[in-house]
Amino acid sequence: MIPGAAPAGLRTMRLWTHDRWRFPLPERHRFPIDKYALLRERVVADGIVEPADVLEPDPAPWAWIEAVHDGALVERIRDGSLTLRESRGLGLPWSPELVERARRAVAGSVEAARFALEHGLGMNLGGGTHHAGRDFARGYCLFNDAGVALSLLRGEGRVGRALVVDCDVHQGDGTAHLFADDDATFTLSLHGARNYPFQRIPSDLDVDLPSGTGDDAYLTALAGALDAAIPRADADLAFYLAGADPWEGDRLGRLALTKAGLRARDELVLDRLRAAGARVCVVLAGGYAEDVRDTVDINAATAAAVARRLS
Ligand SMILES: [Zn+2]
Repeated sequence: MIPGAAPAGLRTMRLWTHDRWRFPLPERHRFPIDKYALLRERVVADGIVEPADVLEPDPAPWAWIEAVHDGALVERIRDGSLTLRESRGLGLPWSPELVERARRAVAGSVEAARFALEHGLGMNLGGGTHHAGRDFARGYCLFNDAGVALSLLRGEGRVGRALVVDCDVHQGDGTAHLFADDDATFTLSLHGARNYPFQRIPSDLDVDLPSGTGDDAYLTALAGALDAAIPRADADLAFYLAGADPWEGDRLGRLALTKAGLRARDELVLDRLRAAGARVCVVLAGGYAEDVRDTVDINAATAAAVARRLS
């Protein structure tokens, strides 16, 4: 039992996962496919959530995805006919299992966003696939889960204005692309200036951080960015991409945050958004520690921060 978590029996906390849906990967591929099952075990072992409250969504219907992404791209993903250039950009080998898993990840973010609308906060143990734009799928991202969830909930009249707070170490180019002409969605991305993607699509607010940025400078920059973004967004619903890859031991990130710094980041984002009256849907985004258990530590701490605010 972590301090401040919901006592057993209250069952406020719910999480969504697609950890049992795996896909074929070459040996030693950097994609952390083992993270998801370890994270499910961890959040239960830590008392963050009851085992029965870790839920598995059905795959998102194609219509939800086609409402956001280019139809021809969706068709190429669906039938495995991505071009060689697209496959290389995606960085994951195509398989039917890859596609089904991506649809389940999207549905998890939809469910977590619905839960957030009801309870103030929700979290998907996946998603944050921010390199997927309207007509491109790259950087391990097939579909943009936040984009699909927002489009769906807006269609239902559940959400008006929205904010994306992207704290993955990589710039949120796909999200920026999807919402470029959407005045009702504010996109904020804080990332390593020298990290992928090297050709950017501008967010409403991009904060480029130098390599080696540590906790204090990061948190100062984040607080300033939230001060700028939150009033402009005036959001009913926010998506928080709580990437674990700004961690100092990450193989792909170039920032140097400690685990304590990442916990402070989570608390700052959650508390500022909630103080502004926004519902918050938290998604994982990236994390590429040499030992996957370090990424799991960081993600579990984020889930614990959500649980404390739900209890
Ligand atoms: Zn990343």
